[in-house]
Amino acid sequence: MIDTHTHIYLPEFDVDRNEMLQRAKDVGVEKMFLPNIDKDSIDNMIRLCNEEKNYCYPMMGLHPCSVNVNYENELRIVEEYLYNSNYKFYGVGECGLDYYWDKTFIAEQKIAFEIQIQLAKKNRLPLSIHSRESTDDCIELIAKHKDENLHGVFHCFSGTADQLEKIIALDFYAGIGGVVTFKNGGLDKVIKEEHLRNLVLETDAPYLAPVPLRGKRNEPSYLKYILKRLSEVIGVNEKEIAEITTANAKKIFQV
Ligand SMILES: [Zn+2]
Repeated sequence: MIDTHTHIYLPEFDVDRNEMLQRAKDVGVEKMFLPNIDKDSIDNMIRLCNEEKNYCYPMMGLHPCSVNVNYENELRIVEEYLYNSNYKFYGVGECGLDYYWDKTFIAEQKIAFEIQIQLAKKNRLPLSIHSRESTDDCIELIAKHKDENLHGVFHCFSGTADQLEKIIALDFYAGIGGVVTFKNGGLDKVIKEEHLRNLVLETDAPYLAPVPLRGKRNEPSYLKYILKRLSEVIGVNEKEIAEITTANAKKIFQV
């Protein structure tokens, strides 16, 4: 399995990071992709990826919840890392729109997202898209800029069947995480076997822990619960889902 979206560089894991990584390896998580949040998370993310080479892979971007009056400065830092640093990044993200937490900077969020879409295209990198209560607008912006160099993942997908069809039509992928295990998550009525070629697994740790650990700190080893539930939902065995989603992730992030 590959965890395509996990924030294990955050302080929530400072007490047991090595043990947590070992638990992930023990359940068969073979790689992880780490989306950035903002300028304050970069150093810890890069340090961890250097320590865990060929296991943890960094992305570079600005989270929509960190978009505020200083977003231009934040984006300059993102560009600086993408173009003028010695680090290799495997995606642009996480970026996108969040209408759930705060609607104050929606206009700025959209500008920041479009700039990051362009950065992804120029650098031939996939996007890791955050689309909380904003999936239609994210789809619209992706469709507006779509070309053969624009691809990526709608991370933590929790939308409708119609939205999933649009995402797949744009040649994008849906990241399936803890929401698939939630009783009222709704994904059981949306995701079908036929979508498997456009799905990847993720935890979004430390957030969104799957049932039976809902509400606790999430970690990549819990991908096993997400895989198990997805298997029940679409009626495909776990091994096959793990193989296909792993191949999908390797294709997206080019590893
Ligand atoms: Zn995230």
